[in-house]
Amino acid sequence: MRIDIITCLPRLLDSFFAHSILQRAQQGGYVEVVVHDLRDFTADKHRRVDDYAFGGGAGMVMQIEPIARCIRSLQNERAYDEIIYMTPDGERLNQQMTNILSLRQNLIILCGHYKGVDERVRELFVTKEVSIGDYVLSGGELAAAVLSDAIIRLLPGVLNDETSALTDSFQDNLLAPPVYTRPAEFEGHQVPAILLSGHEAKIDEWRHEQALERTRQRRPDLLE
Ligand code: SAM
Repeated sequence: MRIDIITCLPRLLDSFFAHSILQRAQQGGYVEVVVHDLRDFTADKHRRVDDYAFGGGAGMVMQIEPIARCIRSLQNERAYDEIIYMTPDGERLNQQMTNILSLRQNLIILCGHYKGVDERVRELFVTKEVSIGDYVLSGGELAAAVLSDAIIRLLPGVLNDETSALTDSFQDNLLAPPVYTRPAEFEGHQVPAILLSGHEAKIDEWRHEQALERTRQRRPDLLE
C-alpha cells in the first residue's frame, strides 16, 4: 500500500510516522507513506497556499491551484483508489471504514487548514470525505495521522501477531475484553483465575462473555 499525504505542515507528520509500529511497517515494506509539502506546488513567490474568502468573512481559504498541481503530479505516477479529504463534515471514521480502506492500494489524504479548502477541490478531485469526530481541529494533520494509523495496523504482517487486530474493539461489533499481565497479584488484586488456568477454550469463552458484557454496559448501540 502507498499513502500520499498532502499538507502545508509536513514536519508535523514526519515525526509521527518515524516511530513504533508505523516506522516498522514502512521499514518492512508493508506501506510507503510519502508526505508532500503543499507549498512546493505554489507559483506564489511567498509560497502561500491560502487567500481571502470570496464574499468576505473571517478566515482564509486554501486555494485550488497548488492542490490541483500536487494531486495531478501524483496521478501522473500512478492510479489512486481514493482521494480523501479530512474534514469535520465528512463521513465519521469507524473500524468498518478502516477495514475497507486497508484493502486499497494507493490513497491520497488531503489535510485542510484555516476555513478549509476551496469547495471546487472537493467537487473536482476528492472521492471520499472523512471526519474523525464531531469537533474541529485547527488542521487536518492529526486527523490524517489517525486515519493512516488505523489503516496501517490492519495491513497483513504489520502487527507481530496478525490475529491481534481481529480481537480489538469494534471488530465483530464488540468492545475488547479486559487484559492483564504480570504480576498475577498486585496489592491484593488478583488476575481472574481463568486466565491462569491454561484452558484455551474456556479462556476464549470468558473473553467473549467479558467483551459482550462490556459492550452491553458501555456501547449498547453496537449490539443493535
Ligand atoms: N471551516 C471548517 C468547518 O467548520 O467544517 C473547519 C476547518 S478546520 C479549522 C481546518 C481543517 O482541519 C479542515 O479543513 C480539516 O482538514 C481539518 N479538521 C478539523 N476538524 C476535523 C475533524 N473533526 N475531522 C477531520 N478533519 C478535521
